[in-house]
Amino acid sequence: MKKVFLLLLFLIFGVSSHGAAEQKVSILLYHSIDEFTGHGLKGLYVTPENFEKQMTYLKEHGFTLLTFEQWQEREKVNKPIFITFDDGYKNNLKAYAIFQKLKTPNFQPKATIFAISDFVGRPNRLTAAELKALADSGIFSIQSHTATHPDLTKPTTNYEYQFKASKEKIERMTGKTVFVLSYPFGKFNERVLEEAKKYYQYGLTDNPLIHTENGKTNKNYLIPRQYIFYSTTLEEFARIVE
Ligand SMILES: [Zn+2]
Repeated sequence: MKKVFLLLLFLIFGVSSHGAAEQKVSILLYHSIDEFTGHGLKGLYVTPENFEKQMTYLKEHGFTLLTFEQWQEREKVNKPIFITFDDGYKNNLKAYAIFQKLKTPNFQPKATIFAISDFVGRPNRLTAAELKALADSGIFSIQSHTATHPDLTKPTTNYEYQFKASKEKIERMTGKTVFVLSYPFGKFNERVLEEAKKYYQYGLTDNPLIHTENGKTNKNYLIPRQYIFYSTTLEEFARIVE
């Protein structure tokens, strides 16, 4: 009887702590790391100065930065967090420089760039050689944000091109596996999720609440993310990540 009781306690404790750990992990969403000079949406920029303050906060507060290669380890490390950048902008090199500056034996920066495969090499985007160098740095994982950044919910979408061809193209650039997709504009429907499952292990939204809304159905293809904006203060940042 006592054994059964102990087992029950273990199960309850095990299950609840597992649940708590899973909810705690933040996945942050960035686009441009640059001064805003009037191009595009200001909200999609974070200045290098603010980005450095935010990453320094993570460093000083004992966070462990992860990429999706380590998704299964997120419950085993201290304060797991995922840093992601959508669209593959060239200014993400500024984030790279900041990570190199902050890197110590105890703080190993990791982040994921979601590149748009057909946009690679355009004037304001990272080139194939830069993506390869970032992937080889051990800091960045390069994953897919589709081939041309379409609204994937449109019935005319060529999923094989957007999902399979983009994955293969980025894999040829970096020599590393592409297994994570971030949905352009955060838009998806049932069809998008079914198609994504053919080529990817994980799908990322741009919605911080999606995970809890949808429960465990399609869990790995509805991973929530938290936007960090131009206007996000360090106090707000701390509230988001803690
Ligand atoms: Zn995008």
